[in-house]
Amino acid sequence: MTRDGRAIVVGSGPNGLAGAILLARAGLRVRVLEAAAEPGGGTRSSQLTLPGLIHDHCSAFHPMAQASPLFRELGLERYGLRWRHQDIEMAHPLDDGTAAAVWRDIDRTVDELGGDGPAWRYTFGALSAGFDDLAQDILRPLPHLPRHPMRLARFGPAALLPASVLVRQWRQPRTRALFGGAAAHAVTSLGAPLSSAVGLTLIAAAHRHGWPVAEGGSRAIATAMIRMLESLGGTVETDTPVTSIAQVDGADIVLLDTAPGAAATILGDRQPPRANRAYRRYRYGPGALKVDLAVRGPIPWANPLCARAGTVHLGGTFDDLADAEAATVRGHLAAAPFVLVGQQYLADRSRSVDGVHPIWAYAHVPHGYPGEDPEPVLRQIERFAPGFRDRIVDIRTRGPAALERDNPNYVGGDIAVGSNAGLRLLFRPGGATLPIGGRTPYDTGVPGVYLCSSATPPGGGVHGMGGANAAAVALARWELSRG
Ligand SMILES: Cc1cc2nc3c(=O)[nH]c(=O)nc-3n(C[C@H](O)[C@H](O)[C@H](O)COP(=O)(O)OP(=O)(O)OC[C@H]3O[C@@H](n4cnc5c(N)ncnc54)[C@H](O)[C@@H]3O)c2cc1C
Repeated sequence: MTRDGRAIVVGSGPNGLAGAILLARAGLRVRVLEAAAEPGGGTRSSQLTLPGLIHDHCSAFHPMAQASPLFRELGLERYGLRWRHQDIEMAHPLDDGTAAAVWRDIDRTVDELGGDGPAWRYTFGALSAGFDDLAQDILRPLPHLPRHPMRLARFGPAALLPASVLVRQWRQPRTRALFGGAAAHAVTSLGAPLSSAVGLTLIAAAHRHGWPVAEGGSRAIATAMIRMLESLGGTVETDTPVTSIAQVDGADIVLLDTAPGAAATILGDRQPPRANRAYRRYRYGPGALKVDLAVRGPIPWANPLCARAGTVHLGGTFDDLADAEAATVRGHLAAAPFVLVGQQYLADRSRSVDGVHPIWAYAHVPHGYPGEDPEPVLRQIERFAPGFRDRIVDIRTRGPAALERDNPNYVGGDIAVGSNAGLRLLFRPGGATLPIGGRTPYDTGVPGVYLCSSATPPGGGVHGMGGANAAAVALARWELSRG
């Protein structure tokens, strides 16, 4: 179906590509304009260290892509995407040598948690069983009529709690830390309201779908999306930064897969002053210090569960994590920051060469932290895997400034593109575009132009739902305007 409309999407991250595919499928001629030399945004992978090793620049594990109603409907497997699973989704070691693990199989997880098992099942059993229904509601903007009110009613009260309150139901330090590591993905204070939401979601998703990796690197997600877009007649142009609205003039629909600040610059005085001010003042969250390593042989973890886990969370007990996250949010580099380690090669052996493996790691650091020294990350890994340093063959570090150079959406190194403090998690971007008077969080205030990046609901992660939601609003308005 051709509707003779033209659309431009600025940015080729998963949200931009998702929006582009839906617009192309509705019959519009779609061009995606990407600033970087490679498309894909947060789903790029390349040889960052030794020849042949495949490193994910950003996203590595994809529970939300599995749960995303859009990804499930697109069927990207038809365009070459293959998901690969490791034995254990996530492990969390402690200094006493113990560890706890999230297996995809909730029964096994519950068994291994011993006395804490029943409370784990109570919290995650029904949630994970009904996760796909829940995802339909939590991946859409608020407010809307829930499609599955009972599921939402069960999730909501627990999600509203600070992680520091929800965690009280577990007694063992390793169970408490296991939950704390997942909750810390929100990159906010674990004592804040709503700081349980991300942890609940990620663990429920792990039990429902696992945290799989894309075979050949996360770039395979972008490659499959681009293939699908091209099959619908769309195109992607790289090395094409957009800095002015003049570059997108003439399009019926424009989607901006950019940070709000960049959108304000592009839209300039075409944007109503209030919206422009709100976009420029948009509040970003803490940053990341990314370390990619080439490591000979497996990491010598003290606890064997860690050697089978795709993701290993490092930072000690729940209280240690809470202290570290609170310091980070306040703008201080924590003495022992929260570190996430990815061993994607366990699920996808094609990423290693001759027994040398690509290891992905990052620490939470303050917004705009100027350091490029990998030491805070290396220290944490060595703490739980003595002898690790001796196995490092090569290393590449990117602090907040380098992350922002690679992808302008990561302002100050904020990979979530927005502070998750308090209710901001619900009402991005920054409350500036609350759905008042028929407006949606995707409206920029300029007719036909919509924001679709992870600054908009449902926020960070590879799920494409920001792009899908924005495209749905854009298409409905465009149809209406044509009468
Ligand atoms: C270190 C790290 C680890 C992560 N781990 C995970 C994970 O394991 N699982 C997960 O689900 N998510 C993870 N994420 C988050 C995930 O990558 C992002 O949430 C996701 O990519 C956001 O998609 P997006 O389309 O909104 O934006 P992005 O993927 O950031 O893409 C935006 C694109 O727009 C382009 N762009 C911006 N401004 C302009 C402009 N003015 N003109 C032209 N192009 C422009 C950028 O170059 C970029 O290509 C991680 C991110 C990082 C950095």
